[in-house]
Amino acid sequence: MSIFPVLQQYPESRIAESLKRLTQKQVEQALSKEVLSENDFLALLSPLAAPYLETMAQKAQDMTRRHFGNVIFIFTPLYISNYCENQCVYCSFGAHQSIPRSQLTLEAIEKEAAAITAQGIRHILLLTGEARKKASPEYIGQAAAILKKSFSAIAIEVYAMTQAEYAYLIDKGVDSLTLYQETYDPDVYKTMHLSGPKTDYRFRLDAPESALKANMRAVTLGPLFGLADPLAEAFRTGLHLRYLQNKYPEAEIGLSLPRMRPLVSDFTVPHVLDDKRFVQTLLAFRLFAPTAGITVSTRENESFRNSILPLGVTKMSAGVSTAVGGHTHEDETGQFEIADTRSVQQLSDDLRTRGYQPVLHDWNYQLF
Ligand code: SF4
Repeated sequence: MSIFPVLQQYPESRIAESLKRLTQKQVEQALSKEVLSENDFLALLSPLAAPYLETMAQKAQDMTRRHFGNVIFIFTPLYISNYCENQCVYCSFGAHQSIPRSQLTLEAIEKEAAAITAQGIRHILLLTGEARKKASPEYIGQAAAILKKSFSAIAIEVYAMTQAEYAYLIDKGVDSLTLYQETYDPDVYKTMHLSGPKTDYRFRLDAPESALKANMRAVTLGPLFGLADPLAEAFRTGLHLRYLQNKYPEAEIGLSLPRMRPLVSDFTVPHVLDDKRFVQTLLAFRLFAPTAGITVSTRENESFRNSILPLGVTKMSAGVSTAVGGHTHEDETGQFEIADTRSVQQLSDDLRTRGYQPVLHDWNYQLF
């Protein structure tokens, strides 16, 4: 079994048909429930739910408090290699882009780690492009083994891997995986991923489950909003989330909701998700998946991130550089522009002012 046949049951036409049949009453019924069905989720994502944002926000805030308290986990990304064989049309690290390429040595990774831990943070997200001969699983494993000495939680956001490769990385200290499907629409996927191993839609789709089969503690899913119809993307992400939550109840399945940012290339975002619909989408996710952690990254600007804090967000990045070695060198090319440039200290202070507890160092997963 895989998520693939589940998604196949919801082609574009079926989603469109269900949306046409929706009524205001169904939205209200969805809002009165504690446990939402897939159809309830669709109702809350739909334009019919737009007038109920205030009610949704109140419920989402209550649910988030109930399940997460006032805690926000803070992490920072560490880019260790920007070599990439893929041609993702929306990315400035793509094989088609002529940018300076680099990869950190193990010594340089140690220096970056020291610069990051000096900010007090112990949650790290390790990133690479997809170039197996350069940034091989073994290289990523060696990087994780170094980071394990300084960080209590090591997440990876790298290329899709096999179950055996995930098991190897877990052995080296990795405890969670972030993997965006980018778009769940197989036809759009083809037009966005022109060459390289990432053209294999199905392998990428099944990778989060491969990680869970290898006993990954936590998996974070998400689309990249902007590539395809946002409502359908959100709905299919919700199906994927619920499928994994039901099948792997012992694991932590979370969401991240990135929207496309300007790049160094001239890619035009085909399906812009505006702020109001983004908020509605976030709220619908919180009500559909009350226990799922939700990450909002520095792709969003400071005031917007502050304003959506109470609506379901549980994890934020800070002190971000999207360039290889960007924590010790400032002049490298980044993967995308960030919109919230707050340091770890600034974000922590802002969170405290707003009544939240910033968590930079969670319990030590390595001990369990
Ligand atoms: S999105 Fe990832 S895989 Fe695609 S070009 Fe950028 S770095 Fe490479």
